[in-house]
Amino acid sequence: MTDSEELRLRNEIVEVSQAMAARGLNRGTSGNVSARLPDGLLVTPSGVVPDRLAADAIVRLDAKGCAPAGAFKPSSEWRMHAGLYARRPDINAVVHCHSRHATILACAGRPIPAFHYMVAVGGRSLIPLAPYRTFGTPELAEAVADALEGGFACLMANHGQIVGAPTLAKALAIAEEVEEQAAVYWGTLAIGGPNILDDAQMAAVFAQFRGYGQES
Ligand SMILES: [Zn+2]
Repeated sequence: MTDSEELRLRNEIVEVSQAMAARGLNRGTSGNVSARLPDGLLVTPSGVVPDRLAADAIVRLDAKGCAPAGAFKPSSEWRMHAGLYARRPDINAVVHCHSRHATILACAGRPIPAFHYMVAVGGRSLIPLAPYRTFGTPELAEAVADALEGGFACLMANHGQIVGAPTLAKALAIAEEVEEQAAVYWGTLAIGGPNILDDAQMAAVFAQFRGYGQES
């Protein structure tokens, strides 16, 4: 990867972080964003609010999670990002946030079932819930990678949500949709609960997505 390609990725990570804040997916410094490099990853630094983030503050980590001397401290959740790149060759970008409604459901121990066809943006007929593990630990990284198996999005118990996708733009779009689905599902729970789509109905949704260029 050339320096200019890496700079483009750094700028894109800054843009995605700021978009998450602007769209209400994040408050303060709680979210983090990364992109795969051929020999490691780029990840947002720890404790920098998106408004103040600059391309040169994005931390480059090698495959073992080591940063060059003088780099900012990486997000405390870097292991979660690195673990996904190690496990999933189809994932090149990861977005994690504590968006409100996704977090409400995650704290109540509720995965999102197939109550709306757009649940399929997560790649499966539900958006599952990874079990609770302490933030920043290898155990959380493993729980998240397990929960994302076969899909692109999951809730994280008592924590938030995480999305892995082929591109940063796609990861942001999915995270935004997960939050919207979480908000609507939460709303249906307040009025008796949703009607759930069955397997055949969801299979038809996936078939429709495959034939619809912009969703592929
Ligand atoms: Zn978090």
